[in-house]
Amino acid sequence: MKVLITGGAGFIGSHFAKRMLDAEDIEQVTVLDALTYAGHRTNLGRAFLSPKFEFVHGNICDVHLVNEVMRGHQAVVHFAAESHVDRSLKAAAQFVETNVHGTQNLVDAAVRHHIERFVHVSTDEVYGPLLNGEATEDFPLRPTVPYAASKAASDLVARSAWHTYGLPLMVTRSSNNFGPCQNPEKIIPLFVTRLLRGEKVTLHSRGQHVRNWLHVEDHCAGVELVLRRGEPGEIYNLGGGTDLTSKELTGLLLDISGADWDAVTYIQDRPSNDARYALDWSKACKQLGYQPVRDLGDGLRETAAWYRDNPDRWAPLTTSTVVPVPGPGAATLRTVQEPHHV
Ligand code: NAD
Repeated sequence: MKVLITGGAGFIGSHFAKRMLDAEDIEQVTVLDALTYAGHRTNLGRAFLSPKFEFVHGNICDVHLVNEVMRGHQAVVHFAAESHVDRSLKAAAQFVETNVHGTQNLVDAAVRHHIERFVHVSTDEVYGPLLNGEATEDFPLRPTVPYAASKAASDLVARSAWHTYGLPLMVTRSSNNFGPCQNPEKIIPLFVTRLLRGEKVTLHSRGQHVRNWLHVEDHCAGVELVLRRGEPGEIYNLGGGTDLTSKELTGLLLDISGADWDAVTYIQDRPSNDARYALDWSKACKQLGYQPVRDLGDGLRETAAWYRDNPDRWAPLTTSTVVPVPGPGAATLRTVQEPHHV
């Protein structure tokens, strides 16, 4: 099987591309990535040494390029996206362009090239906030922020290609990922790198927002199961088993970093900071044998150690620039290092 991976120079896509290269039955792995601020060739590392690997620098919104690149592949795994909620509060149109238009472009080409397996990688954020209970795959989509709205729209665009043209397409919706190679704008690498530099970290409001944490390798294992065994037309939630408030997560990161609560500053909440996301992922367990295995504490320690040992990979990405954030909290000026979303 020849697999085309979009967004493979980003955090999750790069782990997945290396995983695919390790699989004996995979003949070729092609990564298509625009190398935005979030994409780095270094994330792919050893992939460049493999004769099975090809890297194409390009944009999923480029109709001609996507058509050319997809030719000869049997499977597509679509990770490419604008993925950071805080950025979507300032530049929502770019999220619609990449996440919605880009996805339409990919599924159009996939139909044209008779792609046999297409996995569209989505997020639990499309379900919106849940005060209690857990979202199953048939739960209504109630996204609140531009990032989640653009991902929900792209889910629907992707699924329309299954309904209309019979493209054998599966959607995965996962909870928050963590692990090495994540851009330091996201909460875990942001806090770890700030603590490594002896700087303070900031918690929105009282740090009460709840998220479910999934190690990136567990997520990639789930995506591979869906690629190989998923039923076309189906959606699979991929969760991680560990729900934490952002304050609880901060406590774990302080412990790992040898810092105390003096390193924490509380700031005004950002617009639409969803109180809680929660997934029911029993369908993927029962139907595909999905089971996350990575221990949260071990995974966080290993992740923190990776950032400690690889400053060249994140230090150049953490220049502070003051940017205004529109919306109800507009009075606040925050640095690009300060805001985070969990
Ligand atoms: P990321 O921001 O680290 O990587 C995104 C990659 O897409 C980058 O390499 C970037 O260069 C590339 N890209 C962006 N626009 C592109 C375009 N127009 N054409 C081609 N490439 C483009 O994101 P991530 O955290 O690895 O997330 C990957 C996918 O998983 C996204 O679809 C995201 O919505 C989804 N997801 C992420 C999480 C998480 O916790 N990070 C959780 C659930 C779902």
